[in-house]
Amino acid sequence: MLIVQKFGGSSVADTAKLRRVAGIIADAKNAGNDVIVVLSAQGDTTDDLIAKAHEISPEPTRRDLDMLMVTGEQISISLCAMALQEMGVPAISLLGWQVRLRTSSDYGSARIRSLDTERIRQELDQGKVVLVAGFQGVNRRGDMTTLGRGGSDTTAVAIAAKMHADLCQIYTDVEGVYTADPRLVPTAKKLKEITYDEMLELASMGAQVLHNRSVELAKRYGVPMEVLSSYVRKPGTIVKEVTKGMEETKISGIARDDKIARIALVGLKDEPGIAYKVFRVLAREKINVDLILQSIGRGNTKDISFTIPKSELEHAGKALSAEQDAIGFEHINVTDKICKLSVVGAGMINRPGVASLMFEALAAAQVNIHMISTSEIKISVLIDQEAADVAMRAVHKKFFEE
Ligand code: ADP
Ligand code: ASP
Ligand code: MG
Repeated sequence: MLIVQKFGGSSVADTAKLRRVAGIIADAKNAGNDVIVVLSAQGDTTDDLIAKAHEISPEPTRRDLDMLMVTGEQISISLCAMALQEMGVPAISLLGWQVRLRTSSDYGSARIRSLDTERIRQELDQGKVVLVAGFQGVNRRGDMTTLGRGGSDTTAVAIAAKMHADLCQIYTDVEGVYTADPRLVPTAKKLKEITYDEMLELASMGAQVLHNRSVELAKRYGVPMEVLSSYVRKPGTIVKEVTKGMEETKISGIARDDKIARIALVGLKDEPGIAYKVFRVLAREKINVDLILQSIGRGNTKDISFTIPKSELEHAGKALSAEQDAIGFEHINVTDKICKLSVVGAGMINRPGVASLMFEALAAAQVNIHMISTSEIKISVLIDQEAADVAMRAVHKKFFEE
């Protein structure tokens, strides 16, 4: 078999953990498999590098920030290669440019364009474990880019897809994908399997266990994925196209996203073209808008509120305020003390009443809902951040513990 194994930052945080990871890799190799390994930076290295950059400059250029961040993964793969060699397992470490992992030019959020598998293939043919640095690539000019936080998962799936691997294993610090983040909801249950669509929705709604783009890629290329623990050797959660008993499952999980902010524009004119004027500004600034709520007109004014990534709040506030007269609103209201809570499940579409159950749980927990949004396989609500822990447990209890 050809297996791609990816190990996250906490799994390679120190020497002892790196050795344990090397043991897992060696076992897969010694069992007769071809093994490609993708590693993240050790522990909090990426956060520490970003903090260091900000000590020097409040707004470092994105290019230099990427140049700095890519060093984290280089440390992991070289150390792990040494650990494997110490165990008598031939191994080679390769950076993004060495496997010609080409990306778009967007520093900090680059998208993978192509990957040349020749070098990887050659090294595998010589019997080596190939260790590739996650999260990084090169753009057209040959400059280093990064794929966005948590992007090593996507590196692993891209390599698995291009190499036609039999399995892409994502090793992490929990035993698989759970019905909710097990750190926030101790009663969360591990899922045996989950569909790509449900996993994509969970990841996009804030479940950081997988980078959402990795799930998108896995679905597109039909790469079977397994999420499992690097601490305990147990089967994890399989992510695939169709799961058994799909029609019976109402809900597969609950996700929470704290990295969002809400902007309200109050006192807009109640006339055609206003929403366009507002969102045109955000589109021009390349700011992603998620939930949108427009109030019913009062007199001849109305309000529009919407959510955006927390990291864009300052930028969006400035851009909108600069256009206040052109858009025509009375004032702007912003907060980042909010959170989006979502329930996700493919079976939802044929089961009325899921929304009502969610709202019942939130009402009983005295949680106020600010916005609601639904799709075929998810329901999201916007709530105050201080209510998030209570809300998450209450909703989990309703769907999984009653
Ligand atoms: P890694 O460093 O291995 O990439 P991450 O921190 O990115 O690990 O992802 C693992 C974390 O994802 C877990 O520690 C857990 O707190 C969180 N998580 C959020 N939602 C879920 C979920 N539904 N199932 C499992 N873990 C989840
Ligand atoms: N080291 C990078 C990060 O912390 C990539 C990853 O871990 O997936 O975001
Ligand atoms: Mg991760």
